[in-house]
Amino acid sequence: MTEKRQFRAIKGTRDILPPESSLWNWFEQTAREVFESYNFREIRLPIFEDTELFARSIGVETDVVSKEMYTFEDRGSIHVGYPQTVDEVIRSNDAVKAAWELKRIPQTPENELRVNLINHACKSISDEGASALLRFVAELHALDLGDSVTLRPEATASVCRAYIEHNMHALPGDAKLYYVGPMFRRERPQKGRYRQFYQIGAEVLGQSDAPAIDAEVLEMLIAFFNRVGLTRTTLYLNSIGDKNCRPDYVALLQNELLNVADKLGPDSQRRIETNPLRVLDSKIPEEQPIIEKLPRISDHLCDACREHFAKLKEELNLRGIKYQENWRLVRGLDYYTRTTFEVTAEGLGSQNAVCGGGRYDGLVELLGGPPTKGIGFAIGSDRSILSIQETGSAPPPLVLSVFIAWMGPKAYPAAVSIARKLRAAGLAVELPPEEMKFKKSLGLADKLGARYALILGEDEAASNTFTLKRLSDAAQKTLTENELLEYLESERRGTRA
Ligand code: AMP
Repeated sequence: MTEKRQFRAIKGTRDILPPESSLWNWFEQTAREVFESYNFREIRLPIFEDTELFARSIGVETDVVSKEMYTFEDRGSIHVGYPQTVDEVIRSNDAVKAAWELKRIPQTPENELRVNLINHACKSISDEGASALLRFVAELHALDLGDSVTLRPEATASVCRAYIEHNMHALPGDAKLYYVGPMFRRERPQKGRYRQFYQIGAEVLGQSDAPAIDAEVLEMLIAFFNRVGLTRTTLYLNSIGDKNCRPDYVALLQNELLNVADKLGPDSQRRIETNPLRVLDSKIPEEQPIIEKLPRISDHLCDACREHFAKLKEELNLRGIKYQENWRLVRGLDYYTRTTFEVTAEGLGSQNAVCGGGRYDGLVELLGGPPTKGIGFAIGSDRSILSIQETGSAPPPLVLSVFIAWMGPKAYPAAVSIARKLRAAGLAVELPPEEMKFKKSLGLADKLGARYALILGEDEAASNTFTLKRLSDAAQKTLTENELLEYLESERRGTRA
């Protein structure tokens, strides 16, 4: 006998059940309406992509890529063709390096030595290097590694990949795109933090990095939050410089951090080497006084970045958007430049960020596309909806308009027919599939929260009439079909029933 096993949703994932699912639909539909009013259009993206897409764009040293991705090997062979020409040798070398970084080549000291040797040799393209690479590639094929794919941990990289793949730079104007859907990160589950969570994001890709674009994106975000009643929020804003000024600042920061390294915890100590900016994200209480004394990026921006940030703030003032500057807002992912922002909301405890975003000029180029500017954000739907629920600004749940209490085989055809007509008129209707006793029928209508019971017995069927009973006060009237449709429709327009 097979053992009885009860399946449960995997840790960090969850079911969104009715009536909460209506709240989600309303939330997502409102985003579509607001974003489309700013001339954004939806892009639907795959849920999984080539692992390297995320590794390259988000950065191998980030938590997301190094610890949190759901990566698996798809059947088929590794993406390294047998190199034939010097050019192909160089390209294969890149693929071998990437495969090594992504841990797809068994991480033995012997293989590390080979990867390094080949890398060195390829720089001067000696015959030796080329033939060593050829041998190594042949061995790789023999390992029969599959293509490495990853469930998307975020969607900006996919949007950029699609922008390049479909030559969107050749389209008139900027590409203004939004997406809605699940993301996957292997984080420690807690309230407001899941392994499958949902984001609504928007991106602008094009030739201009005008601060007015940043401001309009933020205006749209705030307009959306206002529309869904998420008004007790704070927008934090920063500029983290660009490739001209950030490297010097990061070097300075790293130096200062080395001086205080012994006072920092193990995570921050590690980040001094791997990603010094991330130390500024630390929430550890003992580290706060030390971090407060570190050099601030705002004092080290180049003229162009400083001017961009000043203009952005003017643009936000023009639009009446309130913000707080936060010099420590560096964001976790590598691709950000200049503008970064985050929105926090009430009622969420420690996981209170409901949106993060920023500029990522250069990301499209990094992924092999033309020079392109970009800015965008991702709203966390789970947390936003949680905050809406906790602060009591959720709209009333959808109601069942009509429960058809039919009795007797002669009434049944009329019940089927009127149910179809009422549904076509946009009303939510419940038609019991089997005959029920009158009392039981009305009891169920009540429990289901129906606004009306439509009573249809053999008498009504014989006289082509309906008895409509309002369940809130038991008021009752007898109507013809036309009167009924007219009455319920005018009711619906007035009440959204
Ligand atoms: P990020 O892509 O990390 O900038 O995240 C953007 C937003 O997505 C955050 O502000 C959160 O609201 C949401 N988010 C990120 N990770 C998670 C998670 N594991 N669970 C729920 N929401 C998340």
